Amino acid sequence: MIDGHTRTCGLIGNPVEHTLSPLIHNTLAELLSHPLVYVPFHVEDENVHKAVEGAYALNVLGLNVTVPHKSRVMKSLVQVDELAEKIGAVNTLVRFGNGFKGYNTDMPGLYRAFLSEGIMLDGQEVVILGAGGAARAVAFLCASKNVKKVYLMNRSADKAAEVAKEVNSKSGRECVCPMALSDHGKLPEGRFLAIQATSVGLYPNVDEVVIDDEDFYRKIHTGYDLIYKPRDTRFMQLVKSHGGRACHGLKMLLYQGVIAYELWNGVSVPEEIAMQVYGLLDEAAER
Ligand code: NDP
Repeated sequence: MIDGHTRTCGLIGNPVEHTLSPLIHNTLAELLSHPLVYVPFHVEDENVHKAVEGAYALNVLGLNVTVPHKSRVMKSLVQVDELAEKIGAVNTLVRFGNGFKGYNTDMPGLYRAFLSEGIMLDGQEVVILGAGGAARAVAFLCASKNVKKVYLMNRSADKAAEVAKEVNSKSGRECVCPMALSDHGKLPEGRFLAIQATSVGLYPNVDEVVIDDEDFYRKIHTGYDLIYKPRDTRFMQLVKSHGGRACHGLKMLLYQGVIAYELWNGVSVPEEIAMQVYGLLDEAAER
């Protein structure tokens, strides 16, 4: 029931109409008996600053930020957490002093998803497909978790080089090696964890895949696709048909939300509650 004690959280982005975040946060609030509602706000580029200021003035407890505002919003914050600053993207705003402080929960969300799937990073050789916002966060995660080597492959090779340079310099390790996607045949022999962080294969283009070469998939022991619609992407099918294990990105979505909720409410969400939310997300993402 909404009453005078109810706190508001929300999502700013454009578009926000298909978001699953309200399901995550409103279910958490219900299961944990917190007086909280979460609503999506469609915010145009030129209104981001006004939206953040207005939300603070309205005593909004916290906000998520999605595309295309994750970098732009940083100018409107009183502080940015060290990790979010490094990644250059903020997806969660928490009240702090006389404004909002920005965090990035995508990267720790992915890490929690990996732990939950039993995927280890330490000492691994990793292939990241893509060099967009999500791939950057994945590259930072890999560099911070002591992977042996990351081959970062992108269609636009210059973007791969840019991201690799930045991650190597900010993490103080020369572990990310940029490659053009078209050079995937030059990937050295070995057994790799491949993280699919391009938008290729996303619903409704479910028959598309970023690399369609059997030799590539023979080298992949585990494939993690950040896409969760469909739940069995062409990339995942190719990994599995060559004997590898494959996961979709729905747990990353779940845990980035859980971590934001924890930051807003100063609680630790029990795993069995997170799994109840996951069950509902799983049904909703199918639709
Ligand atoms: P961006 O738009 O920032 O990056 C898109 C990436 O996909 C770029 O590397 C781009 O390459 C590549 N790409 C696009 N089209 C093609 C193509 N036809 N062939 C080859 N490469 C292509 O998107 P994000 O990084 O924000 O998101 C990437 C994916 O990750 C999306 O599908 C998104 O849904 C998913 N995601 C999932 C999350 C989760 O919680 N599970 C969280 C965040 C993202 P180029 O640079 O050459 O254009």
